[in-house]
Amino acid sequence: NDTALDSLEGDLAPFSLNDDEEGEQDILSPNETEIQTRDSSNDALMQKLLAEHGLEDDCPLPTDDYSRALLWKYCLSVAGASWHAASLLVESENEHHTDVAINWGGGRHHAHADKAGGFCYVNDIVLAIKRLLQSQSVDEAGTLASSRVLYIDIDIHHCDGVQQAFYSTDRVMTASFHRNSPGFFPATSGFVREKGEIDTAGFGYNLNVPLPTGIDDVTFIRMYRKMVFGLVNSFDPDFIVLCVGADGLEGDALVTGKLHSTDHSSTGEGWSLSPEGLAECVRITSSLCAGLSEEMICTRPMKEEKKENQSDETASDCSNPETKATHDSRESLQVGKR
Ligand SMILES: [Zn+2]
Repeated sequence: NDTALDSLEGDLAPFSLNDDEEGEQDILSPNETEIQTRDSSNDALMQKLLAEHGLEDDCPLPTDDYSRALLWKYCLSVAGASWHAASLLVESENEHHTDVAINWGGGRHHAHADKAGGFCYVNDIVLAIKRLLQSQSVDEAGTLASSRVLYIDIDIHHCDGVQQAFYSTDRVMTASFHRNSPGFFPATSGFVREKGEIDTAGFGYNLNVPLPTGIDDVTFIRMYRKMVFGLVNSFDPDFIVLCVGADGLEGDALVTGKLHSTDHSSTGEGWSLSPEGLAECVRITSSLCAGLSEEMICTRPMKEEKKENQSDETASDCSNPETKATHDSRESLQVGKR
């Protein structure tokens, strides 16, 4: 909303908006301004600059001013929504007692501070986490302490942009579950050996969990529960941020290369998760944010489990309201307060 955008614009220095009376076409980001003032006849220099900022391939810079203005507005909207979601959870501003907030269009985890990538022009996750880190928590003794954030990512791709942003801090625990396959985007990160910057407070606060192709609901949720409960118990975060990429769904068109019939770059294999499986991860995480303990959060049986054990209709006695998620966008970002 406009209030959130106004707040965000104030915090996004050195970015600035030139939203004058001439109209939206004058809205430019610094990078665009820099690019426009260069000698446009020097194509090689232009291409070098665009490549430096990742503005090519899947993140092209539109060629006309109007489309570029829309792109900038889009970046502000995506980032502003996640920023606003995070703001709702911060104690002093939490007038509505919000436990969980979702940005259905968020989760742009590939963008870096100065570089776009993987269809991500702005990293709304990093901004939302930074908003949460501005708050303080009160421990049992009544002492103010810096808040901590557990970031969990279940998009099929590794969250390279988020990992880099918090690689040197122990205030953000980053845990990524992603597909392990040579050459699979982003290909240059997501390895188990990446545990945080050596010789900084962040070492030991970055967890990569590469997973094989074809993983199904039963295996994924079983692992997700074990990992998330372990992380929550050991790290004791004040907030949990969950990036729910929908490209782990079975038959995802982009991952399997079916989006474009001429696209032969994909290996044709992804994960085999269902919408119900992803929703179960959201439900487990939301339940944690609502104050439920591990013992109180049971697991709903997935289709595969039901097939294996048809007679066990009572495998789950969950009394919590069912979390339903409809995915008309490929990513979403959930932030929750503990
Ligand atoms: Zn993805």
